[in-house]
Amino acid sequence: MPRCDFCGKKVSLPFHCQYCGKKFCGDHRLPPDHACPGLTAWKKNPAPGVGIRYGSGGTSAYGGGYPTSPQDKQPRKCPAHCVPYLKIIAAIIVFILIVILLFVLMGRLG
Ligand SMILES: [Zn+2]
Ligand SMILES: [Zn+2]
Repeated sequence: MPRCDFCGKKVSLPFHCQYCGKKFCGDHRLPPDHACPGLTAWKKNPAPGVGIRYGSGGTSAYGGGYPTSPQDKQPRKCPAHCVPYLKIIAAIIVFILIVILLFVLMGRLG
């Protein structure tokens, strides 16, 4: 039975840290939880909250033994980011429509 490299707990399906290559239990799978040497790299990855691009091996937590990485730590960031964008895009579209309307009206008048 493999053991968590951080706390020594026995785990049947250990998580492999992509950054230091060690095995961890569910409690210590994330880099901040096991004082990972690759913590800075990990921070860079999940930080840009707009995208959902965690590409490397985050598909299933239990299948490959890879952690779902920070995905599950910040599930609520998207709405906060997305809503303003939608509003801005809607405002731009309305603005463009108004400009087009104005041009059409001016063309008719003059
Ligand atoms: Zn552990
Ligand atoms: Zn690590």
